[in-house]
Amino acid sequence: MRSFTDEVGGQRVVFGAGTLGQVGEELARLGGGRPLVLATPEQRELAERVAAMLGGAATFTGAAMHTPVAVTEEALAAAGDADSLVSVGGGSTTGLGKAVSVRTGLPHLVVPTTYAGSESTPVLGETASGEKTTRSAPEILPDAVLYDVELTTTLPWPMTLTSGVNAMAHAVEALYSPDRTEDTDAMAEDCLRAIAGGLRARAADLDARAELLYGAWLGGRCLAAVGMGLHHKLCHTLGGSFGLPHAPTHTVVLPYAMEYNAGPGVRRASAAIGTDDLQSLVAELGGPTDLGGLGFDAADVDRAAELATARPYPNPREVTRDGIADLLGRATAGTPIGALT
Ligand code: NAD
Repeated sequence: MRSFTDEVGGQRVVFGAGTLGQVGEELARLGGGRPLVLATPEQRELAERVAAMLGGAATFTGAAMHTPVAVTEEALAAAGDADSLVSVGGGSTTGLGKAVSVRTGLPHLVVPTTYAGSESTPVLGETASGEKTTRSAPEILPDAVLYDVELTTTLPWPMTLTSGVNAMAHAVEALYSPDRTEDTDAMAEDCLRAIAGGLRARAADLDARAELLYGAWLGGRCLAAVGMGLHHKLCHTLGGSFGLPHAPTHTVVLPYAMEYNAGPGVRRASAAIGTDDLQSLVAELGGPTDLGGLGFDAADVDRAAELATARPYPNPREVTRDGIADLLGRATAGTPIGALT
């Protein structure tokens, strides 16, 4: 079982199984003693357990996808005289913690329970009046992360699979990013091997879960270290403007983005994943392979293509409106891609 403590870019990281017992000690290192514990409504019990471990701390369990500013304002009101923040959950909860922390300057400890990777990035996307805006600033990066593999065992398999592919997406795009370095390449390949291994083992035991969570950490670091490309732009468009669910959307789109960007980076990614047909692997594991099944309407393809190509992210292949409309049309129907090489 992996177990380590690290310091990366000013962020302390504790990784292991059963590490939640150290939550008080880790918070004290940040100078916190009177935290507000954040979670989604679905993870209220866990939040209350953590709050009890922290001496009866206050909780706010209204975290929601895409960090609505109205929710952040409620959490700010709930913070009262809290001297620190503990986010317990996936990317939605971490996003809320970042939003409160950047407004108050309170130290922020994250206890991740999915593979989204937000805890490793200085990026915050927030929504207000139906529009999502994203910003990046060093003070948004959480001060410390406590990874406890045991907390991920409750993640249902469909979410485990899609959240794992979400982590893979950060690494795949890192392998063809213009900012990539030897170090980010190595980190991305390690991420893909770990996630693919954990998923192929169907997250059946704590070791497989540890590989997935370790891969998630590396994926988050890829996301923080280099610029992302077409895949992330498409997913941000589909999530932000069409309300599609975050991790399942990443899972459907990634094989199509890899096909669109076929080249040395994608070949390297496929080798690390252990197949050049990610779509078939996702299907074998029972994951989603079409945007239509996620509620995306074929009638919206042109508008989505327009939005996704308006301000494209740097990408190895030119992003054209027709090319993206074709990609989205096939992804909506779930047209099989097959092997990439
Ligand atoms: P999520 O945080 O919305 O969680 C999905 C659901 O799973 C929630 O109901 C949650 O309570 C539940 N859940 C989480 N962990 C669980 C567990 N171990 N057991 C049982 N249930 C569990 O989903 P997500 O995919 O982790 O995060 C998506 C959000 O994160 C999006 O808003 C996305 O934009 C954001 N994100 C941001 C960054 C960044 O760097 N800023 C990176 C990745 C994702």
